[in-house]
Amino acid sequence: MALVVQKFGGSSVKDVERLQNVARIVKGEYDKGNQVVVVVSAMGKTTDSLVALSKQITETPSEREMDMLMSTGEQVSIALLAMTLHSIGVDAVSFTGQQVGILTDESHTKARIVKINCERLFKALKENKVVIVAGFQGIDVNENITTLGRGGSDTTAVAIAAAAKADICDIYTDVDGVYTTDPRIVPEAKKLDVITYDEMLELASAGAKVMHSRSIEFAKKYGVIVQVRSSYEPSVIGTFIQEEGGNNMEEPIIRGVTAYKNEAKVSVLGVPDSPGIAAKLFTALAEANINVDMIIQNVSVHGSTDISFTVSKEDLKKSIKVSENILTPLGAKGLTYDENVAKVSIVGVGMKSHSGVAAKMFGVLSEKLINIQMISTSEIKISVVIDINKADEAVKALHEKFGLGE
Ligand code: ASP
Ligand code: MG
Repeated sequence: MALVVQKFGGSSVKDVERLQNVARIVKGEYDKGNQVVVVVSAMGKTTDSLVALSKQITETPSEREMDMLMSTGEQVSIALLAMTLHSIGVDAVSFTGQQVGILTDESHTKARIVKINCERLFKALKENKVVIVAGFQGIDVNENITTLGRGGSDTTAVAIAAAAKADICDIYTDVDGVYTTDPRIVPEAKKLDVITYDEMLELASAGAKVMHSRSIEFAKKYGVIVQVRSSYEPSVIGTFIQEEGGNNMEEPIIRGVTAYKNEAKVSVLGVPDSPGIAAKLFTALAEANINVDMIIQNVSVHGSTDISFTVSKEDLKKSIKVSENILTPLGAKGLTYDENVAKVSIVGVGMKSHSGVAAKMFGVLSEKLINIQMISTSEIKISVVIDINKADEAVKALHEKFGLGE
């Protein structure tokens, strides 16, 4: 008997028909004699609608109340899925994050899971019930409802799989696996059989919307085997996310290409080139709970320099405010920002053992006359910030040049 965690995203539970489809998939696993824990997201675009509602009232809602609001979406879908399972003769019980003991820290709207107390979950499984858990939510030490950041149901699923020592965590979505790039941009994109945790992490941070990054960190840390697969074609094997070198995995130089269009660039101009300046700026941003992605500092001219960084578009307003407030203490001369940027990345563990990958990437961009505004690299990823209007063209050209469609 295996313990299987299945996660279904918003589009997989968007209406009654899709819920019935999910119930059939769950029943299929349950009928094999396995224990099944199901994690679901809010139906369809429910979370977006809730956010939009709040925006009609204020641009800067209390984050505690945002969590209170957004967490309702998942509560609807778990109850409906439980009823759907009951209607086909499967004993199932739904739990909110709090009921299933998901303890998080106190950072509202992007809380981190601290601990999962699986007692109630195990008890229900022992009683042969399918356990349905609300994704994306938890509870902090003060019993305030928290949420894990948009797309956080993946993290709920993987964290539960880790805590309950599940045999596999199946992430059901509307695509049948992880692709070399977005097939809507590049029709030649191919489905991958396997991908490493690190590559998946880099792809997620590079903007591939397949899975929530934190879920992959969890999976890597606890060795949870994850399969990304389709809720439309549940018999099709998806993409396995696993450790490097598993199953004689072939390691191509580049596994995928992505374009991330949800970043904005902020530049703080004319700051003194002296110790402590960057620390002050980025401490202020961190204290405002802003995640900074890329950072570059120019070579200084006459003792002053510019610092540019990227943040998510949602955090742009907050970032501008924080940066503006600190201009005087920094001794900076001004501030500019640009929303029309995209981050294009190539990712692959094979990069570690090959040279000339960056040169090849920059060569492709130069052929297309695409200007590179910022560059950042990791051991297995190279990202560039470019004009958002050139992003798709860059992705197509890179996908082709690195032979990913072959
Ligand atoms: N419903 C939440 C969202 O849309 C969480 C999730 O879907 O994973 O962000
Ligand atoms: Mg969702």
